[in-house]
Amino acid sequence: MARIAVEGVTKRYGQTVALDAVDLSVDDGEFLVLLGPSGCGKTTLLRIVAGLVEPTAGRVVVGDRDVTALPPRARDVAMVFQSYALYPHLSVERNLAFGLRVWRRPKQEIAHRVGEVAGQLALDALLSRRPKQLSGGQRQRVALGRAMVRDPLAFLMDEPLSNLDAQLRTATRLELAALHRRLGTTFVHVTHDQIEAMTMATRIAVLNGGRLEQVGTPADVYDWPATTFVARFVGAPGMNLLEATALSRDGVVRVVADGFDAALERGHLAARPVLVGVRPERLRLDTAMSGPRCTGRVVAVENVGSEEVALVRCGPANLSWRGPRPLGVRPGDDVRLTTDRAHLHLFDPASTRRLVWVDDPLAARPNLAGARA
Ligand code: ATP
Repeated sequence: MARIAVEGVTKRYGQTVALDAVDLSVDDGEFLVLLGPSGCGKTTLLRIVAGLVEPTAGRVVVGDRDVTALPPRARDVAMVFQSYALYPHLSVERNLAFGLRVWRRPKQEIAHRVGEVAGQLALDALLSRRPKQLSGGQRQRVALGRAMVRDPLAFLMDEPLSNLDAQLRTATRLELAALHRRLGTTFVHVTHDQIEAMTMATRIAVLNGGRLEQVGTPADVYDWPATTFVARFVGAPGMNLLEATALSRDGVVRVVADGFDAALERGHLAARPVLVGVRPERLRLDTAMSGPRCTGRVVAVENVGSEEVALVRCGPANLSWRGPRPLGVRPGDDVRLTTDRAHLHLFDPASTRRLVWVDDPLAARPNLAGARA
């Protein structure tokens, strides 16, 4: 088990900045998920930790050691690749034993470790098969097993579930999370799939354009996104964001936009632009005629199984409204939606960072009036 830290890690490929001064600390025994869209630098960061890519600047620490200058095999971390990278001509048993054989471990130890890991991953009955005689899920388990026999300080996983079909991915997600709990080893897992991140991670690190946008528990990242990028990227559909103005009227701070009006708190404020955010599932039909108000016209309704998502034109913006099916509206209907004040999120349009108002736990962020909270 080991803590992993990357400090000031930058990676440039010619003009491309794949990573820009990234600082990230992964606690001992954590399941950290690196989440972000294609090209944001996730794989590069994982490969730098593994020692497969050299950083342009910065250092990598595994356990108590600065491993920046060490080759991959001296780092005591094990990488599981998206492609599984199994040897096609070797049996499952030989694939599992490969690393230990290279290390010239005693035969008895190899047999013991391979047997132990095969048991943990339910591969016992498949030991004599070749990779091509296995299903995708079984191959994925062999790839994981090959990493496990080495008993590494940490597992580094690059989209290991992306080649599995949806059902198997769900099952494997649960297996991986259970395995992590059993082994108690540090896991760093790369994915662009937010469901994978939300369900498995102890903490999620959201990357965008080579920079870390936010590091937090799945609940933190979903409930208190630090930036508009995180607000939009996490959630399906992502958070609604409206261009609005925060101002005070009669001693009350309000946020107003075309089709939107919400009273936030008592106080005075020079008018300023904000982005106001609300999650689609936090919207509901306004029957009480009090609280935040959002009026618009339904332009589409999508059936997503147990729920429906309506697209509502509100001023110049389209809002997603998600709720149990049926929502009871049709395209062309005029609707009046509301939410609880506590479910409104405010962001600074210039920096895209979260703004603090009532009881916001991210208290180190700039507040509405521009001062530091
Ligand atoms: P994906 O989810 O598509 O795998 P990613 O988030 O893992 O994406 P990286 O593979 O880390 O992204 O790539 C980050 C950036 O660095 C991209 O712009 C990519 O084109 C660039 N890049 C990565 N490897 C190289 C390389 N060997 N040479 C040049 N540019 C590279």
